[in-house]
Amino acid sequence: MLVVRRPKLSLWDKLYLGAVFKGMWITLKHAVGNIFHQERILTYEYPEMKKPIPENYRAEHRLMRRPDETPRCTACMLCATACPADCIEIVAAEHPDPRVEKYPAVYNINLLRCVYCSLCVEACPCDAIRMDTMKIEQAGYTREHFIVDKEYLLKNHPEGKSPYSIALY
Ligand code: SF4
Ligand code: SF4
Repeated sequence: MLVVRRPKLSLWDKLYLGAVFKGMWITLKHAVGNIFHQERILTYEYPEMKKPIPENYRAEHRLMRRPDETPRCTACMLCATACPADCIEIVAAEHPDPRVEKYPAVYNINLLRCVYCSLCVEACPCDAIRMDTMKIEQAGYTREHFIVDKEYLLKNHPEGKSPYSIALY
């Protein structure tokens, strides 16, 4: 049987004043130290200051475009099939260009259900969907705000990133 031995406390220990002053001293030391050495502060003054995120961070999705601005997506449904959260809705339609079999008439992603696993990106054979927008802040007043459609996804291009890298037909 394990016996827990409790140390015998002196009157000073029972008053807890030593521990209180020690705690206050540590707090004061950090507060004053942070005023004079702001480079040591580990917190970010959000939203003015944003924490850097890695280049390969899985952020909000975007749909890639062909050079003629049409969606690169061919509505093959592989992303929707791979999605474990069942949050991608695609309605395929015949493409007027005979070189392209189909295009997505509807392409919605429910970001409230998405688990940001990136399996849709992995499954896509056309590099038509990416998660490199670096957009990680999401806010809205209604649930519908988080169901993003094709038009939103096609425009969801981060500044400085090319909407298309290679032409695919
Ligand atoms: S990131 Fe994962 S959960 Fe989100 S849409 Fe893609 S496959 Fe579905
Ligand atoms: S995004 Fe890619 S995987 Fe999904 S339907 Fe379009 S072409 Fe297929």
